[in-house]
Amino acid sequence: MAGRLPLDYSYLFYQWNEFTDKVRSGQNIFPQSWSSSLWQEKLHLLHNIITNHPDSGLCSRCGECCLDFPFACRPVEFFYILPYIALQWPKDRQQTLFLEQMGKIRDDGQNYCPFLEKGGCSIYPVRPLLCRRAICGEHICNKQNRDFDSLGDWCNADPVITQLTTMNLVYYYFDEQNQSIELNWPVELPGLKSFSLTVAPFEIWLLLLLDQRELCAGVLELKTFKPILQCLKPGTLSLGTA
Ligand code: SF4
Ligand code: SF4
Repeated sequence: MAGRLPLDYSYLFYQWNEFTDKVRSGQNIFPQSWSSSLWQEKLHLLHNIITNHPDSGLCSRCGECCLDFPFACRPVEFFYILPYIALQWPKDRQQTLFLEQMGKIRDDGQNYCPFLEKGGCSIYPVRPLLCRRAICGEHICNKQNRDFDSLGDWCNADPVITQLTTMNLVYYYFDEQNQSIELNWPVELPGLKSFSLTVAPFEIWLLLLLDQRELCAGVLELKTFKPILQCLKPGTLSLGTA
Protein backbone atom coordinates (compact mmCIF):
# COMPACT_ATOMS: atom_id res chain seq x y z
CA MET A 1 0.00 0.00 0.00
CA ALA A 2 1.48 3.35 -1.03
CA GLY A 3 -0.47 5.65 1.27
CA ARG A 4 -3.78 7.21 2.07
CA LEU A 5 -5.75 10.21 0.97
CA PRO A 6 -4.84 13.27 3.03
CA LEU A 7 -7.93 13.30 5.27
CA ASP A 8 -8.47 13.52 9.00
CA TYR A 9 -10.14 10.15 9.44
CA SER A 10 -10.83 10.61 13.16
CA TYR A 11 -12.67 13.85 12.43
CA LEU A 12 -14.61 12.22 9.61
CA PHE A 13 -15.62 9.41 11.94
CA TYR A 14 -16.81 11.98 14.46
CA GLN A 15 -18.88 13.68 11.73
CA TRP A 16 -20.21 10.31 10.61
CA ASN A 17 -21.39 9.50 14.12
CA GLU A 18 -23.39 12.73 14.21
CA PHE A 19 -24.79 11.92 10.80
CA THR A 20 -25.94 8.39 11.62
CA ASP A 21 -28.59 9.89 13.95
CA LYS A 22 -30.26 11.28 10.82
CA VAL A 23 -30.22 7.84 9.21
CA ARG A 24 -31.63 6.26 12.36
CA SER A 25 -34.46 8.78 12.57
CA GLY A 26 -35.32 8.41 8.87
CA GLN A 27 -34.52 12.02 7.90
CA ASN A 28 -34.08 13.00 4.27
CA ILE A 29 -30.38 12.59 3.54
CA PHE A 30 -30.47 12.92 -0.25
CA PRO A 31 -29.05 15.81 -2.29
CA GLN A 32 -31.78 18.44 -2.61
CA SER A 33 -31.50 18.63 -6.40
CA TRP A 34 -33.77 15.65 -6.93
CA SER A 35 -36.92 14.83 -5.03
CA SER A 36 -36.67 12.45 -2.13
CA SER A 37 -39.36 10.32 -3.81
CA LEU A 38 -37.15 9.84 -6.90
CA TRP A 39 -34.22 8.65 -4.76
CA GLN A 40 -36.57 6.35 -2.85
CA GLU A 41 -38.04 4.99 -6.08
CA LYS A 42 -34.57 4.16 -7.41
CA LEU A 43 -33.52 2.62 -4.09
CA HIS A 44 -36.60 0.37 -4.16
CA LEU A 45 -35.83 -0.64 -7.73
CA LEU A 46 -32.23 -1.40 -6.84
CA HIS A 47 -33.38 -3.44 -3.86
CA ASN A 48 -35.90 -5.37 -5.97
CA ILE A 49 -33.29 -6.16 -8.63
CA ILE A 50 -30.88 -7.40 -5.98
CA THR A 51 -33.44 -9.53 -4.17
CA ASN A 52 -34.84 -10.94 -7.44
CA HIS A 53 -31.38 -11.95 -8.65
CA PRO A 54 -29.85 -13.90 -5.77
CA ASP A 55 -26.15 -14.66 -5.94
CA SER A 56 -25.35 -17.70 -8.06
CA GLY A 57 -23.06 -19.16 -5.41
CA LEU A 58 -20.28 -19.35 -8.00
CA CYS A 59 -18.42 -16.42 -6.51
CA SER A 60 -16.00 -17.57 -3.84
CA ARG A 61 -15.56 -13.97 -2.61
CA CYS A 62 -11.83 -14.21 -3.18
CA GLY A 63 -11.67 -10.47 -3.91
CA GLU A 64 -9.55 -10.89 -7.02
CA CYS A 65 -11.86 -8.86 -9.23
CA CYS A 66 -12.04 -6.15 -6.56
CA LEU A 67 -8.35 -5.45 -7.14
CA ASP A 68 -8.71 -5.30 -10.90
CA PHE A 69 -10.44 -1.96 -11.15
CA PRO A 70 -10.68 1.18 -9.03
CA PHE A 71 -13.73 1.19 -6.80
CA ALA A 72 -16.42 3.71 -7.72
CA CYS A 73 -20.18 3.64 -7.48
CA ARG A 74 -23.28 5.62 -8.36
CA PRO A 75 -24.89 7.90 -5.79
CA VAL A 76 -27.96 5.65 -5.53
CA GLU A 77 -25.66 2.73 -4.66
CA PHE A 78 -23.94 4.88 -2.07
CA PHE A 79 -27.31 5.55 -0.45
CA TYR A 80 -28.04 1.82 -0.53
CA ILE A 81 -24.75 0.97 1.21
CA LEU A 82 -25.00 3.74 3.78
CA PRO A 83 -27.80 2.46 6.06
CA TYR A 84 -26.28 -1.01 5.97
CA ILE A 85 -23.12 0.36 7.57
CA ALA A 86 -24.84 2.88 9.83
CA LEU A 87 -27.55 0.58 11.18
CA GLN A 88 -26.18 -2.94 10.90
CA TRP A 89 -22.50 -2.66 11.68
CA PRO A 90 -21.35 -2.38 15.30
CA LYS A 91 -19.65 0.91 16.11
CA ASP A 92 -16.18 -0.61 16.37
CA ARG A 93 -16.47 -1.98 12.86
CA GLN A 94 -17.55 1.41 11.57
CA GLN A 95 -14.57 2.93 13.34
CA THR A 96 -12.19 0.46 11.68
CA LEU A 97 -13.66 1.37 8.30
CA PHE A 98 -12.91 5.03 8.88
CA LEU A 99 -9.61 4.78 10.71
CA GLU A 100 -8.01 1.91 8.80
CA GLN A 101 -9.77 1.03 5.58
CA MET A 102 -10.82 4.26 3.95
CA GLY A 103 -8.70 6.27 1.51
CA LYS A 104 -6.00 3.69 0.86
CA ILE A 105 -4.02 4.19 -2.32
CA ARG A 106 -1.87 1.62 -4.09
CA ASP A 107 1.61 2.13 -5.53
CA ASP A 108 0.14 2.56 -9.01
CA GLY A 109 -2.15 5.34 -7.74
CA GLN A 110 -5.34 3.27 -7.91
CA ASN A 111 -7.65 3.43 -4.93
CA TYR A 112 -8.46 0.37 -2.87
CA CYS A 113 -12.05 -0.49 -2.22
CA PRO A 114 -12.53 0.33 1.47
CA PHE A 115 -14.79 -2.69 1.82
CA LEU A 116 -12.32 -5.31 0.69
CA GLU A 117 -11.22 -7.31 3.71
CA LYS A 118 -9.26 -10.53 4.15
CA GLY A 119 -12.51 -12.48 4.21
CA GLY A 120 -13.81 -10.77 1.07
CA CYS A 121 -16.36 -8.02 0.61
CA SER A 122 -17.63 -6.56 3.89
CA ILE A 123 -20.79 -5.17 2.25
CA TYR A 124 -21.56 -8.21 0.10
CA PRO A 125 -25.39 -8.07 0.38
CA VAL A 126 -25.49 -4.39 -0.62
CA ARG A 127 -22.47 -4.14 -2.92
CA PRO A 128 -22.88 -2.07 -6.10
CA LEU A 129 -24.34 -3.62 -9.24
CA LEU A 130 -21.04 -3.54 -11.11
CA CYS A 131 -19.56 -5.71 -8.37
CA ARG A 132 -22.35 -8.26 -8.93
CA ARG A 133 -21.01 -10.44 -11.62
CA ALA A 134 -24.02 -12.65 -11.99
CA ILE A 135 -27.23 -10.67 -11.74
CA CYS A 136 -28.46 -11.93 -15.10
CA GLY A 137 -27.67 -15.59 -14.80
CA GLU A 138 -24.16 -15.91 -16.13
CA HIS A 139 -21.30 -15.66 -13.69
CA ILE A 140 -18.89 -12.98 -14.88
CA CYS A 141 -15.71 -13.70 -13.02
CA ASN A 142 -12.28 -12.27 -13.61
CA LYS A 143 -10.83 -15.66 -12.84
CA GLN A 144 -12.21 -16.64 -16.25
CA ASN A 145 -10.19 -13.82 -17.79
CA ARG A 146 -13.24 -11.97 -18.96
CA ASP A 147 -13.06 -8.23 -19.07
CA PHE A 148 -16.40 -6.86 -17.94
CA ASP A 149 -15.94 -3.65 -19.90
CA SER A 150 -14.97 -5.31 -23.14
CA LEU A 151 -18.05 -6.83 -24.78
CA GLY A 152 -15.97 -7.93 -27.78
CA ASP A 153 -14.12 -10.40 -25.57
CA TRP A 154 -17.31 -12.23 -24.77
CA CYS A 155 -18.43 -15.33 -26.55
CA ASN A 156 -21.99 -14.48 -25.53
CA ALA A 157 -22.63 -10.80 -24.85
CA ASP A 158 -26.34 -11.21 -24.08
CA PRO A 159 -26.00 -11.54 -20.29
CA VAL A 160 -23.76 -8.48 -20.22
CA ILE A 161 -26.18 -6.42 -22.28
CA THR A 162 -29.05 -7.56 -20.06
CA GLN A 163 -27.03 -6.63 -16.99
CA LEU A 164 -26.11 -3.19 -18.33
CA THR A 165 -29.73 -2.53 -19.33
CA THR A 166 -30.92 -3.52 -15.87
CA MET A 167 -28.32 -1.28 -14.26
CA ASN A 168 -29.38 1.67 -16.39
CA LEU A 169 -32.96 1.32 -15.16
CA VAL A 170 -31.57 2.19 -11.73
CA TYR A 171 -29.13 4.86 -12.82
CA TYR A 172 -31.37 6.83 -15.22
CA TYR A 173 -34.86 8.26 -15.12
CA PHE A 174 -37.14 10.02 -17.60
CA ASP A 175 -38.00 13.65 -16.95
CA GLU A 176 -41.25 15.39 -17.90
CA GLN A 177 -39.95 15.91 -21.47
CA ASN A 178 -39.25 12.16 -21.67
CA GLN A 179 -35.51 12.84 -21.67
CA SER A 180 -33.32 10.20 -20.12
CA ILE A 181 -31.30 11.77 -17.28
CA GLU A 182 -28.62 10.12 -15.22
CA LEU A 183 -29.11 10.51 -11.48
CA ASN A 184 -26.29 12.70 -10.23
CA TRP A 185 -25.07 14.78 -7.36
CA PRO A 186 -24.60 18.48 -8.20
CA VAL A 187 -21.37 19.76 -6.71
CA GLU A 188 -20.29 23.31 -5.95
CA LEU A 189 -16.91 23.45 -4.30
CA PRO A 190 -14.43 26.22 -3.55
CA GLY A 191 -12.09 26.86 -6.50
CA LEU A 192 -13.88 24.49 -8.89
CA LYS A 193 -16.45 25.04 -11.60
CA SER A 194 -19.82 23.60 -10.67
CA PHE A 195 -20.53 20.15 -12.07
CA SER A 196 -22.56 17.04 -11.32
CA LEU A 197 -21.01 13.77 -10.31
CA THR A 198 -22.49 10.50 -11.54
CA VAL A 199 -19.75 8.03 -10.55
CA ALA A 200 -17.22 8.45 -7.76
CA PRO A 201 -15.33 6.55 -5.08
CA PHE A 202 -17.08 5.99 -1.76
CA GLU A 203 -14.85 8.55 -0.03
CA ILE A 204 -16.00 11.34 -2.38
CA TRP A 205 -19.68 10.63 -1.78
CA LEU A 206 -19.01 10.55 1.94
CA LEU A 207 -17.25 13.94 1.92
CA LEU A 208 -20.17 15.43 -0.01
CA LEU A 209 -22.66 13.88 2.37
CA LEU A 210 -20.82 15.24 5.42
CA ASP A 211 -20.53 18.63 3.71
CA GLN A 212 -16.73 18.62 3.86
CA ARG A 213 -16.48 20.92 0.87
CA GLU A 214 -12.85 22.00 1.10
CA LEU A 215 -11.61 18.49 1.78
CA CYS A 216 -13.71 17.19 -1.09
CA ALA A 217 -12.33 19.84 -3.47
CA GLY A 218 -8.78 18.80 -2.55
CA VAL A 219 -9.44 15.11 -3.06
CA LEU A 220 -11.26 15.67 -6.36
CA GLU A 221 -8.18 17.40 -7.71
CA LEU A 222 -5.91 14.45 -6.95
CA LYS A 223 -4.83 12.72 -10.11
CA THR A 224 -5.57 9.43 -8.37
CA PHE A 225 -9.29 10.05 -8.56
CA LYS A 226 -9.73 12.12 -11.68
CA PRO A 227 -9.75 9.19 -14.12
CA ILE A 228 -12.56 7.38 -12.30
CA LEU A 229 -14.81 10.34 -11.66
CA GLN A 230 -17.62 10.76 -14.11
CA CYS A 231 -19.25 14.14 -14.33
CA LEU A 232 -22.25 15.60 -16.04
CA LYS A 233 -21.72 19.14 -17.22
CA PRO A 234 -22.97 20.61 -20.49
CA GLY A 235 -20.17 20.53 -23.04
CA THR A 236 -17.54 18.84 -20.91
CA LEU A 237 -16.82 15.63 -19.10
CA SER A 238 -13.76 16.86 -17.27
CA LEU A 239 -13.22 18.86 -14.16
CA GLY A 240 -11.69 22.31 -14.46
CA THR A 241 -10.60 24.99 -12.08
CA ALA A 242 -12.81 28.05 -11.90
S1 SF4 B 1 -16.38 -12.75 -9.02
FE1 SF4 B 1 -14.64 -14.21 -9.23
S2 SF4 B 1 -12.79 -12.97 -8.94
FE2 SF4 B 1 -14.54 -11.78 -8.15
S3 SF4 B 1 -14.63 -12.22 -5.92
FE3 SF4 B 1 -16.02 -13.67 -6.98
S4 SF4 B 1 -14.77 -15.50 -7.37
FE4 SF4 B 1 -13.35 -13.82 -6.91
S1 SF4 C 1 -17.75 -3.35 -2.81
FE1 SF4 C 1 -17.20 -5.45 -2.34
S2 SF4 C 1 -17.36 -6.54 -4.28
FE2 SF4 C 1 -17.25 -4.36 -4.76
S3 SF4 C 1 -15.08 -3.90 -5.11
FE3 SF4 C 1 -15.52 -3.54 -2.93
S4 SF4 C 1 -15.01 -5.43 -1.86
FE4 SF4 C 1 -15.23 -5.89 -4.05
